[in-house]
Amino acid sequence: MLLIEVIANNGAVGWGECYGPAEVTQSAVTSFYATRLLGLDPIQTDKAWSKCWQSSLDYARRGIMMGAISGLDMALWDLKGKLLNTPLAELMGGRFRDKLPCYATGMYYKEMPEQKLIDALVKEAKAYNAKGFKAMKIKVGKNLAFDKKLITEMRKALPKAQLMADSNHAYDLPEAVEIGQVLDENKFDWFEEPLSPEFPSLYKQLSEKINIPLATGECEQTRWGFQQLLDAGGVQIAQPDLAYCGGPSEAIKIRTIASSLGVKVIPHVWGTMLNMAAAAHFLGSTFCEPGRAEPTSPILEYDCTPNPLREDIFEKPLKVVKGIITVPVDPGLGVCPDRKVMNSFCIQKTETDKG
Ligand code: MG
Repeated sequence: MLLIEVIANNGAVGWGECYGPAEVTQSAVTSFYATRLLGLDPIQTDKAWSKCWQSSLDYARRGIMMGAISGLDMALWDLKGKLLNTPLAELMGGRFRDKLPCYATGMYYKEMPEQKLIDALVKEAKAYNAKGFKAMKIKVGKNLAFDKKLITEMRKALPKAQLMADSNHAYDLPEAVEIGQVLDENKFDWFEEPLSPEFPSLYKQLSEKINIPLATGECEQTRWGFQQLLDAGGVQIAQPDLAYCGGPSEAIKIRTIASSLGVKVIPHVWGTMLNMAAAAHFLGSTFCEPGRAEPTSPILEYDCTPNPLREDIFEKPLKVVKGIITVPVDPGLGVCPDRKVMNSFCIQKTETDKG
C-alpha cells in the first residue's frame, strides 16, 4: 500500500491511501503531483483535485495516476477536517447515522481439493457470522460446477444470513446468467462484478435475464467513468473505491450521479484503516433512497483477512463490534497511523517539499 502524508504550514497533517501498485503510485505522487500541490490552501480540495486532473488529463484520465490523485485527495480531506476540527462525515454533507452494519469479505480460495475448500469456506463464513456479522460476501468464479456447489452449501449453512457473491469479472454473459440464477434461487443479495468492466452494455443484457441486483465499479474511476457505466443500465449498486476512484472528492460526485439514476452506492473497501474510515464517513453521510419511515442502512465492506496494515499500524483502528462499526467522530478521517509501528512496515519513503 502507498500511504500519503500531507503537512500544512502550521504542522497539521492529513493521511491518505492509494489503491494500486504502491511503487508506481508513489512515483506518480513524487515525480508529478506533489510539486503541483505545494503552496495550495489545503481547505480547497476541489481546486487541488482539478489542478491534478487538468495537469495530467492527456494521459491520466483513468488508471494508476488517478489512484495517486485519490490518495492525495483523501489526505487533503483528512487535513481539511483537522484544520476545521470537523469529521469527514459532516464535511461530506452531514451525518445521517452513527452506526454502520458491516459485511464480512473473505472466503478467498486456497490450494486444496474442491470439497475440502468448500467446507473450509463455509466454516470461515460461519465463524464471521458467529462473531456478529449478519452479512458475508463470498468469492465465485473458480469454475461453474464449484461455484454452484459453493453457493448452495453456503446458503444451507447460513439460512438467515445476508449473502453476496463476487466473481471479480470471471464470467461471460451466458455463464453469468447461469450463476446469477443460482444466486437468485439461493436468495443472495447481490452479484458483484459478474462481467468484465470493459463491457458495460452486457450488464443491461444480464439484468434483463436474471433477478438478482448487479453490483460493480471497483475498477471504475471518476464521475465520467461512472456516468458511462451507469448510463448503460443494468447496475443497481455502484462500488467506487475511495482510494482509487478519484478520492472522496470524486466519490461524492459519483454518489450524486448514482442518486440521479436511482442507483445505490456502496464503496469497495480493501486496504488499510484510512480507506475504511473514508468509506465509513462516506456511508455515514449517504442519504438512502427511497426515504421512508424506517429507512434501511447501507452496509460497509470489511475485509476480514488478516492484514497488519489495516489493524496494527493505527493508533485507534475502527473496531467492528457485533458486526457494527461506529462512524468516527474525531476531526478528519478520525484514524491516524502510529508512526513507530508503521515504520516497521515501511519499505520505501520519499518526501517532497518546497526546497
Ligand atoms: Mg469486488
